[in-house]
Amino acid sequence: MSAKLQAPRGTFDVLPADAAPRHGVERAAQRILEAAGYRRIETPAFESTELFARGVGEATDIVQKEMFSFEEYSLRPEGTAPVCRAYLEHGMHKLAQPVKLWYLGAYFRHERPQAGRYRQFWQVGAEAIGSHDPSVDAEIIVLLHALLGELGARELRLRLASLGTPASRAGYRELLQAYLREHADDLSPEARTRIDLNPLRAFDAKDAATQRVMDRAPRLADHLDAEDREHFDAVTELLGRAGVEWELDDRLVRGLDYYTRTIFEFTSDALGAQSGVGGGGRYDGLIEQLGGQPTPGCGFAAGVERMLLAAEERPQPEAGCDLFLAWEPSERSDAFALATEARRAGLAAQLDLAGRSIKGQMKQADRAGARYVAILHPDGTVLRDMDSGQEEKVERPGVVAGVLKGRHAL
Ligand code: AMP
Repeated sequence: MSAKLQAPRGTFDVLPADAAPRHGVERAAQRILEAAGYRRIETPAFESTELFARGVGEATDIVQKEMFSFEEYSLRPEGTAPVCRAYLEHGMHKLAQPVKLWYLGAYFRHERPQAGRYRQFWQVGAEAIGSHDPSVDAEIIVLLHALLGELGARELRLRLASLGTPASRAGYRELLQAYLREHADDLSPEARTRIDLNPLRAFDAKDAATQRVMDRAPRLADHLDAEDREHFDAVTELLGRAGVEWELDDRLVRGLDYYTRTIFEFTSDALGAQSGVGGGGRYDGLIEQLGGQPTPGCGFAAGVERMLLAAEERPQPEAGCDLFLAWEPSERSDAFALATEARRAGLAAQLDLAGRSIKGQMKQADRAGARYVAILHPDGTVLRDMDSGQEEKVERPGVVAGVLKGRHAL
């Protein structure tokens, strides 16, 4: 006997019952982001592996362990590098800056699956490319805050930090590396192997001994230069003006290399271990790393599944059915033609597709929540108002008009 076929580990089917809330996320994102001038972009589900190696960073977990790669390609693990690749490829630097884009699609990471962590998940993201102004950072954060608010995400916290520029970070990195080497004996093997390539990740360690070392480690916040600090202060002032609360988290590390200055993350205390709902930051070096002119950028990405897990459940409206067409066997083609006419006239119309008895079809109409049922007999047509139970004989060509009129009268 052959093995039972199942969805791959860490993936899931979006069943009809799950579709409505997910669509709600898409509608809210579209409304909020497009009202602020962001326009939708979609990039391919896979890109050259080189893009992520250069864009996300050779030393990151994502590139080292989490990509699904084949030939010279990888399924996209994130959206910022592809959007920046598209910005360059389509010469968007010639447009008025910043170019404001948003996207929604599936992303892939070969992680150990657990609640809220999947190997295929969906993200909504926004990117504003081409301006250094701190109002960009603040706008990106405020828009994600608005989206999470609109979706009813519970127990949210916004953590914020500045990573400085590569120049201010380089000096700090050396300082941190020296400190980590001094305490290498107390670090987890993983943190120890990362001292050279990615020392900041030690702040993210789960291991208690490493955490104790990191409690006393030098902080980047104390080593920012004056311009970094000015930028950060301007961002937080603007957040204050928008009434968005935040907390400083100078241990915030994001798993991607491209960030400069502002980084942020929204977490929900209503979630378990995977509490990150969405985050992002500024990536002023990324476009240059991909081969373009130095171009600043800033964006967010938020997980659709995490946002829904963090949100209160809300009753979803039923799709509705204005007209159900029930038919005796000889009347199939008339019923089919009437359903087509009704749909063209804008009615939500359904038609029995399983050759049921009239009684069975009436049950089916009830299940569909039909407002009217037209019953096509060989010797005539009856239109039944399912609310009042009233029936009247009608001419077939008048069925659609009758339902439209009835719907109008409601
Ligand atoms: P990141 O690109 O890692 O900053 O992720 C941005 C957001 O995407 C996170 O805050 C999560 O909401 C979501 N996310 C990231 N990885 C996963 C995953 N493996 N499964 C589900 N959601 C994820």
